[in-house]
Amino acid sequence: MSKTIVANFKMNGSSEFIKNWIFEFKQNHKSKNNIILAIPHIYLSEFNGFDLNVAAQNVSSKKDGPYTSQISAKMLQDTQIKYCIIGHSESRKYLNESNAEIMEKFNELIQYEITPIVCIGEPQEVRTNNDTIGYLKSQVSSFKSFRRKIIFAYEPIWAIGTGEHAENDDINEVVDFLRSEFDQEIEILYGGSINVENCDDLHEKTDINGLLVGGASLNPKEFAKIAAL
Ligand code: PEP
Repeated sequence: MSKTIVANFKMNGSSEFIKNWIFEFKQNHKSKNNIILAIPHIYLSEFNGFDLNVAAQNVSSKKDGPYTSQISAKMLQDTQIKYCIIGHSESRKYLNESNAEIMEKFNELIQYEITPIVCIGEPQEVRTNNDTIGYLKSQVSSFKSFRRKIIFAYEPIWAIGTGEHAENDDINEVVDFLRSEFDQEIEILYGGSINVENCDDLHEKTDINGLLVGGASLNPKEFAKIAAL
């Protein structure tokens, strides 16, 4: 079955960089997987339609009004954007986003027919206290009322950009938990220090539906190998 593979450029790159990246990626990419490029807002319009899906990295929880610097779901729809990451741990941390606000963003996105990619994941102290499932439960419980397909990206915070990734058994425990919580169809991606060396093992030994890749996605050849799962 085809997988969803997301490249999260975070606040990296330039117009020139992304153009070259797409060119090199296409020369090396052979799989039928659904590839989604999460690039900074300012480049979304420029690169939407290069026959790769692009995703916004965040959206406002508000419809419109006096929210300087923010971008609404309606604006994303207006520029034909189909996907948007919400709840990334870096947005939760640097923009002080709460679960309630992320839920509002989710609501806004689905009203405008944009598919949210909802990031969840526990910090190191929660992992140490063996309370990962309890923590994730509090992050996802309010999504249960939505009778529609949801994409979750399980990204343990301690694994993002650290070179340390979650064990296969731990990822499977989270996958089992999420599948048992939700009656509706869900897709589960894993993110956290994925690279060409570890992606095959993860793919073969876990029940994930795809990956969200940060640092390693900036190299188009490396990302093409990861995307070939
Ligand atoms: C991310 O930012 O979502 C991520 C998974 O980053 P990295 O792959 O660099 O750990």
